[in-house]
Amino acid sequence: MKISKALAEEIQRIRATALTTRKHSRKVTHWTENHRLRSGKGTALVFILPTRGCSWALAKSGGCSICGYIYDNPQESNFDLIVSSIKNILRRTIKEGKFSVKIFTSGSFLDQKELPLEVQTTIIEEIAIYDQVEEIVLESRPEYINEKILQNLAKSIEMSRIEIAIGLESANNDILKNSINKGFFWEDFERSAKLVLESGANIKPYLLFKPPFVSEYDSIKDIYQSVSKIHDLGIDTVSINAISIHRGTFLSDIFEQKLYRAPWLWSILLLCKEIKKEYPAMRLICDVVAGGKDRGAHNCGKCDSVILRMLQKFILTQDIEELEADIVCGCNEEWKGSLISEKINITDIRYSPAL
Ligand code: SF4
Ligand SMILES: [Zn+2]
Repeated sequence: MKISKALAEEIQRIRATALTTRKHSRKVTHWTENHRLRSGKGTALVFILPTRGCSWALAKSGGCSICGYIYDNPQESNFDLIVSSIKNILRRTIKEGKFSVKIFTSGSFLDQKELPLEVQTTIIEEIAIYDQVEEIVLESRPEYINEKILQNLAKSIEMSRIEIAIGLESANNDILKNSINKGFFWEDFERSAKLVLESGANIKPYLLFKPPFVSEYDSIKDIYQSVSKIHDLGIDTVSINAISIHRGTFLSDIFEQKLYRAPWLWSILLLCKEIKKEYPAMRLICDVVAGGKDRGAHNCGKCDSVILRMLQKFILTQDIEELEADIVCGCNEEWKGSLISEKINITDIRYSPAL
């Protein structure tokens, strides 16, 4: 069994109530941001497509314990509007320079329940026209990745321009099952990742720092172990996502009951430094959403912005020296103390897995 019945039931109960607040906007959202491409600094054009949303979040399992993206998806999509909006935005935005185009659906681009195959193909063909776009990033759960869908993609584009991001979260099956309710295991990710690499495309796994029931200390260990397994597969990029607490989720529930603290920025700094030292050739991405806020990774409030700026610079340059500055703040001792005390207390929480 890849899910824990008790955890899935609790997630589903929370999800059923929160889904009644779901938005219905059919607008394609987009923005540009600085981005580290494989070949260096560039610009990312990010699209959020209003599909019906993640099938896993809509399934009886309730989806992942930490994810509230489904509340932003409409119940029905207008595919013509999606395609025409993408065309217009590309025409207005892609100029000189190098670009990465990220197409997010708050689910899986390759899930045909979200985007029919012909719509997937048209979108890729429209982006492929622009030579300045070196990378096209799609997100997908492993179950939608198969030889047929990769061969279909290859008809429209040179596969080395494609990067498939998979929300692996952790390489530890206990965490996937008992903390996140991910619905797949490491082995499923491994199978899909190999298929993608064989097709000539790239893989970017997302790792989740500090999911529910996993102490800060254990999550640091888990990220190291997961990066090592990812590296062994020949994957050259990893994105470490420090948790941000989405409303309407199981995680939000335990946060509101004061049973959970969002990660410390000190831990993220430590992780980035140590991983870059160990794997200098690996592209390490770490976007901190809601950084400095209660629902995002934060320290004491005084040192947060300095550390967030260091992390941003490091991600763009991939230069470890950006992380070497000596930051002195009293909360560093508090962080170290919490690594120990949280590890002791965490086992009191319901559904706590034996990690
Ligand atoms: S984290 Fe990804 S797989 Fe899980 S519910 Fe959210 S969109 Fe779906
Ligand atoms: Zn501080």
